Amino acid sequence: MKYSKKRELIYKFMCESEAGHFTADAIHYKLKSEIPTLSLGTVYRNLGQLVEAGQVKKISIPGEPDQFEPAKDHEHFHFWCMSCSSLECLPAENLAPLAEIGKSAHGEILSVDLLLKGHCTTCKEKT
Ligand SMILES: [Zn+2]
Ligand SMILES: [Zn+2]
Repeated sequence: MKYSKKRELIYKFMCESEAGHFTADAIHYKLKSEIPTLSLGTVYRNLGQLVEAGQVKKISIPGEPDQFEPAKDHEHFHFWCMSCSSLECLPAENLAPLAEIGKSAHGEILSVDLLLKGHCTTCKEKT
């Protein structure tokens, strides 16, 4: 992968920010002031390259823009709130049985992507 200053800044921003998960739009919006020449297309292209290199993970949410997060060394899955669109990381220890099931049926499982959908505690209290 050819070195790119913009890509490095995008990755750095993702690792340093508290939020944890980002849409390409959010990254573009936040970095625009720092890199005035940054286009949304460039953000998408660089995120794609980071995903391919295994540095960033893409979280696909049906009907919503993709979310991106720096790849972590531990497997985890996500809870997505359908009301406020917040995304939470959940530990994946509970996924081990799932990988076992897959193993007996389909060979070796290297990763499990799971998205739980519902209403977060804040949104649930409001209703
Ligand atoms: Zn919520
Ligand atoms: Zn996560």
